[in-house]
Amino acid sequence: MPEPKINLGPAGNCDKDILSSLNRLKNELRLQAQEVEFTFGVKMGNDTAKKAGELRQKLEIELSVHAPYYINLSTEEDSKLKNSFNWIFLSCERSHHMGAKSIVFHPGFYLKKNPEKTFDIILENVKYLKKEIKKRGWDVELAPETTGKLSAFGSLDEIIELAKKAKCGFCVDFAHLYARQHGKIDFAEVLDKLKSFKHIHSHFSSIEFTDKGERRHLGISAGKPSFEELAKELLERDVNITIICESPDTWRDSLEMKKILEDLGYKF
Ligand SMILES: [Zn+2]
Repeated sequence: MPEPKINLGPAGNCDKDILSSLNRLKNELRLQAQEVEFTFGVKMGNDTAKKAGELRQKLEIELSVHAPYYINLSTEEDSKLKNSFNWIFLSCERSHHMGAKSIVFHPGFYLKKNPEKTFDIILENVKYLKKEIKKRGWDVELAPETTGKLSAFGSLDEIIELAKKAKCGFCVDFAHLYARQHGKIDFAEVLDKLKSFKHIHSHFSSIEFTDKGERRHLGISAGKPSFEELAKELLERDVNITIICESPDTWRDSLEMKKILEDLGYKF
């Protein structure tokens, strides 16, 4: 019998602040993970991060961080690149104190429609960031994410190649793949491509899209793509996966996803 290991939880707090959110996740919602949202800036201080880290450890909740949306590692403007590095460093420092491992970010945009050159620039910058993270002693892993807009760098193949060449982590956003591929996704094929990795950090929601890719995230019940299909595929495999719910109602839909897995026989 395959023995999948699944940690599930919301993007963002399910209560008024990070500490009460962690308590509620553990004691009331019985979820295993949360992604801390620094998407609109790193507003948390190191003191709060340390407190969250102590509580997280006590409650055994897995934390990850979503770094700011403003990051662009393929920019050719020095000041923009420097700001991008700083957003990542701030995210890493807080993550280190919280004991959050994966630092998710959208890597960048295609330069003049040249995906190869874009890849090389992003790879070089991720390698530089990894070196700096090591120098500063932060125990974190960069996790470039598959993106939902066709103008953005981040197809599944690009992210896998980046993770292998830079020896960094990654984040597979299933909704973004679905939007990028105009409403198509083959979960078995995606998971097959990720077989060589020990752990998968992922995002899930439904999504509305146009020819250009994602428009907005939707609730799980929209079924685009279907969480049940992914759940069935996961239960067939010895996969170790963290699934962060990024729907508009992240903790309620996390519970919905938990119920779908449990109805299929999975025990958290
Ligand atoms: Zn995402």
